[in-house]
Amino acid sequence: MKAISVLGSTGSIGTQTLEIVKEFPDQFKVVALTAGRNLPLLVKQIQQHHPEVVALADESLLPELKGHLNNLPIEERPTKSPQLTGGPDGLNTAAAWASADLVVTGIVGCAGLLPTLAAIRAGKDLALANKETLIAAGPVVLPELKRSGSRLLPADSEHSAIFQCLQGTPWAETARLSTGVPTPGLRRIQLTASGGAFRDWSAADLGKSTVNDATSHPNWSMGRKITVDSATLMNKGLEVIEAHYLFGLDYEHIEIVIHPQSIIHSMIELTDSSVLAQLGWPDMKLPILYCMSWPHRQETPWRRLNLTEVGELSFRSPDTTKYPCMELAYSAGRSGGTMPAVLNAANEEAVSQFLEEKIHFLDIPKSIEIACEKHKDDLQQNPSLDDILLVDKWARESVREQVKKNY
Ligand code: NAD
Ligand code: MG
Repeated sequence: MKAISVLGSTGSIGTQTLEIVKEFPDQFKVVALTAGRNLPLLVKQIQQHHPEVVALADESLLPELKGHLNNLPIEERPTKSPQLTGGPDGLNTAAAWASADLVVTGIVGCAGLLPTLAAIRAGKDLALANKETLIAAGPVVLPELKRSGSRLLPADSEHSAIFQCLQGTPWAETARLSTGVPTPGLRRIQLTASGGAFRDWSAADLGKSTVNDATSHPNWSMGRKITVDSATLMNKGLEVIEAHYLFGLDYEHIEIVIHPQSIIHSMIELTDSSVLAQLGWPDMKLPILYCMSWPHRQETPWRRLNLTEVGELSFRSPDTTKYPCMELAYSAGRSGGTMPAVLNAANEEAVSQFLEEKIHFLDIPKSIEIACEKHKDDLQQNPSLDDILLVDKWARESVREQVKKNY
């Protein structure tokens, strides 16, 4: 029985993780949950999974959560009340919870950084969905992993595909999960991208796109922020940096391929020119389950892939003029140090301003480019955690300023 903590339990990744736990009750149990604001759903999750600890990001909501739990009819109350906590310390406590074997990081954005570090420092293995944490703070997270021996298992579907393909390669057991070092035998990574909500729109029409357009993904059902990131293709840019930190390849050897069917989840090329791919229907439960069961394979009754039903798999190069975010991400990744943290924070702020309808879709890349340009002279190559947190704050403020001044 593996004990799981779910950070961001009420989100898309969190709820899918809990579905897996429900489906395999003799394999997994939940010991810790953390959530943002969705108290009704959180209460249901507590009733269903009986966690030992529950943390709320916003401490001021704790009395309301206690009220919800106390108002349940006696027969519906969890047999043992969980420890309730909140705020940044509460999230860290839940993330580092002693009885957990694996922490699934489903918090969105750099807000996941401190709880992720708390889990690593407590020696926990992680299923990493919260990519922003690694992108913003790779130079801080990687040495912490080395120190604690925690293993970072990729839950992002592309990185899970790469990780799955690597299982059969001359990949030394010791190098297997030490992130940031070149992976033996690996020559090139090809990350596949569905193309996002606007893949069939002309570049000229992008300026007219609305929040509703940008939050409707053709193939995957996900949280709002990552759905907008998919529409700008920044998600793929972020995944390039994520792949760099996870698998140790330089940026010359990490490529993006548009693959509208989302059946191939990514490919690797080995030094002998052999290309390996992982295929499946687009369903995040598979990469999450693989993190939870690795190195074993779970028997599932899930829908099996039938390529004759798919019919055709197609591929094309991404349009970097229509989607400038990819190049911004490559450039920030190559600059390294604090630059990816600036890229990530500027993106988070710009997406949030877009979702509040304060800026247009095309202002997202513009905001990020200005913030990265401004940061060039202040870039630090070997940042501390405090440096990362400072530039993250600075980049958000810088975008808010740009929006106020109307660029
Ligand atoms: P979501 O918006 O559906 O859920 C986010 C979760 O984080 C919620 O539980 C929310 O309450 C919590 N949260 C939000 N702000 C918080 C804060 N400031 N502090 C603490 N908790 C907070 O997002 P999602 O789609 O589940 O994505 C989560 C992460 O997984 C993101 O980093 C995303 O890039 C990554 N990811 C998601 C998918 C997917 O299919 N949804 C796929 C790949 C990677
Ligand atoms: Mg992905």
